[in-house]
Amino acid sequence: MKLSKTIPAAVIAGLLLFALIPSAASACFIPRLLPPIAGQALLTAADETGAAAVGVKFELKRADGTPVGVYETDAEGRILVSPLTTGSYFWSSADSPEADAYPFRITGRQSAQTAVVCAKPEPVPEPAEIDCLVLVNKQNPLPDGWEDALTIVRTVNSLGDDVETEAAAYEAYLKLKSALAEEGVSVDLDSAYRSVAAQQDIVVSFTEKYGADYVKQYVAVPGYSEHHTGLALDLYLNIDGEDVYLNEDMEQYPEIWAKIHAGLSSFGFILRYPEGKEDITGYSYEPWHIRYVGAEAAEEIASLGVTLEEYLGKVPETAVKIDYGTSGLFTKQEMDEAILLVKKCVASWDGCELHTVTYAGDEAVTEENISWLNSLDGGAEYVECIEFLTDFHSPVEAYGAWEADTEYTNYQWWLGRTEGGSWVLVTWGY
Ligand SMILES: [Zn+2]
Repeated sequence: MKLSKTIPAAVIAGLLLFALIPSAASACFIPRLLPPIAGQALLTAADETGAAAVGVKFELKRADGTPVGVYETDAEGRILVSPLTTGSYFWSSADSPEADAYPFRITGRQSAQTAVVCAKPEPVPEPAEIDCLVLVNKQNPLPDGWEDALTIVRTVNSLGDDVETEAAAYEAYLKLKSALAEEGVSVDLDSAYRSVAAQQDIVVSFTEKYGADYVKQYVAVPGYSEHHTGLALDLYLNIDGEDVYLNEDMEQYPEIWAKIHAGLSSFGFILRYPEGKEDITGYSYEPWHIRYVGAEAAEEIASLGVTLEEYLGKVPETAVKIDYGTSGLFTKQEMDEAILLVKKCVASWDGCELHTVTYAGDEAVTEENISWLNSLDGGAEYVECIEFLTDFHSPVEAYGAWEADTEYTNYQWWLGRTEGGSWVLVTWGY
């Protein structure tokens, strides 16, 4: 187009633009809200004839009315806004803000929106708040309606797998990930949210393949996996540019996991299945499985050194009852380190079930007992000792030591510790 030399180009451009903007009063637009993907909202607007509505202004607001911005449709009648955090939003016509409002949610798993034709559509309800302290384990199923209330962020990991995570947990994970990167530790998300339906599919296909007995032993019952919450994250490692994601490979890096675990609580996460708490959580130690509980609870849980079950006062009946007694010599943490060795030893005994562990008292810590342990462990230089009494049950006759189906009580355990060292299990028995 050639411009007249007497009219400045800006004026022409302004006039052209003005001519293209249809008047709000006469036009009837058909905004089409295309399904938002995580972090993006796309709106296309057409007029009554179906032609793209070009240069029409829409205002984007959060559900609570907070303005995000005013945008104008492009030559194809489109507005694309990115990035946006997950949540509820609405578009409204900038010319008549109250007349029409077109709500939508950014969830990452949004189904297609229906087009609205110049009428105020039904508002999208604000999703119910999810409780990030929810307890889902072998005794406690996912609460009803949880999955409906869930706001999911969908991502793809370095292995090319889709991963879905609850929005707040994902935001916290990103912060954790970048803090770890600064320490030279590279992590990625293996799996987070798994739907109850997906778990049901696994049960059906594994039952066909491996039989019901296998499924009962190894596959979580649908509804009872913490991964249904979207708040449980399985991490994997990237070491020297290589992805390390198989459980047995990941277990080879205890120092890296220790580094990861040390920083979890600052970002609202806890290590969900710690070592030695299998009887409480129902799961063996899993260094990769972390759980988002929010900043405050995570700090408390970490400083108390407890599991989520203990923190919520929902320890299962079958858990080992521990009586720490009162000690002027040892902290609970020091006792827990010793009890872990006792638990591991009992767990290695064919089907034996530990019921109680009782601290035998400070009076067991004598020079005489310490030298006794040193003589048992020829050449050891223990400077401290600790004693526990346990009750346990043996289902079978074993080791020439116990009878089938018998409860043993006040079984003694002795551990020694060198200056600055860790506990060593020295002897046990009656
Ligand atoms: Zn997991």
